Amino acid sequence: MEKKTTLSTALVTANLDNAPLLGDSMGYEMVSVTVGKGRHMFTIHKNLICATGSNLGKMFSTRKVDDPIHFPSETPGVFILFVEYLYKNTVPCVSATSSVTAQAVRLRDLCQLYVFGEQVEMDIEIRNKVMDSIQDGFRSINRFPDANLVQCIYGRTKPGCILRKFCALSLLAKVRAPDYINDYHITTWLESNVDGFHDFFEALMKFNPHQDPRVRDLEGKTGIWPCAFHIHPSEAKVKREVGIDNKGVDIDKMPNAGDQAGSSAKISELCHLFTESI
Ligand SMILES: [Zn+2]
Repeated sequence: MEKKTTLSTALVTANLDNAPLLGDSMGYEMVSVTVGKGRHMFTIHKNLICATGSNLGKMFSTRKVDDPIHFPSETPGVFILFVEYLYKNTVPCVSATSSVTAQAVRLRDLCQLYVFGEQVEMDIEIRNKVMDSIQDGFRSINRFPDANLVQCIYGRTKPGCILRKFCALSLLAKVRAPDYINDYHITTWLESNVDGFHDFFEALMKFNPHQDPRVRDLEGKTGIWPCAFHIHPSEAKVKREVGIDNKGVDIDKMPNAGDQAGSSAKISELCHLFTESI
């Protein structure tokens, strides 16, 4: 007899997961980190930070709490977000009730956290979660990354960076938006940035005016494929189905806008980060 899953059984199943308790996984040893010119210090459970990537694991495995690692290019705001992830397993987004300034700062910090994650080779699952929050954040405040933020991101990342591709597609969407007011910063930046011009042109070739790069949309009607700005392990099924390489996604090969049948067929191939939130 076929077993039916009801809402109540689903809730019970969800309540029986085997996820380790935070108190068990964090251990007792602490390490410390200092950030920025002011050397703002954070004291963190060693197990938690070592679990965010093999590179960070190597950096902190032999460290003691009185022997901090200094990250001069980071800010306290970035590490506050990182600590939030370490202890709550979630990446904060933008608060709808915050001031415009606070929202802009949060988005800048999220972008910087993504860049930091790339530089220290943080696990891709974490970077993907940060990317989701960046897309959701810009969507929720109805803004695109401005030229100054894009310039900062390009200054700290390398060609192929997924965040760069999001920025390039966002700049393109921005200049195509009906309420766009000419922003000469974009033109000036493109003139002086060969990598940016390359990404912008690549985005232009693939751009669909009906798709908003900030919107993670399964049906592709108004947004973009939810894994479009994710990195997946090369062996993941989604690589074969959606056409990503190990640096990112070829948006040409993503399900087309309005291709509901194709999109539905590929829902099972989405990475778990998105399916968790469906
Ligand atoms: Zn994904």
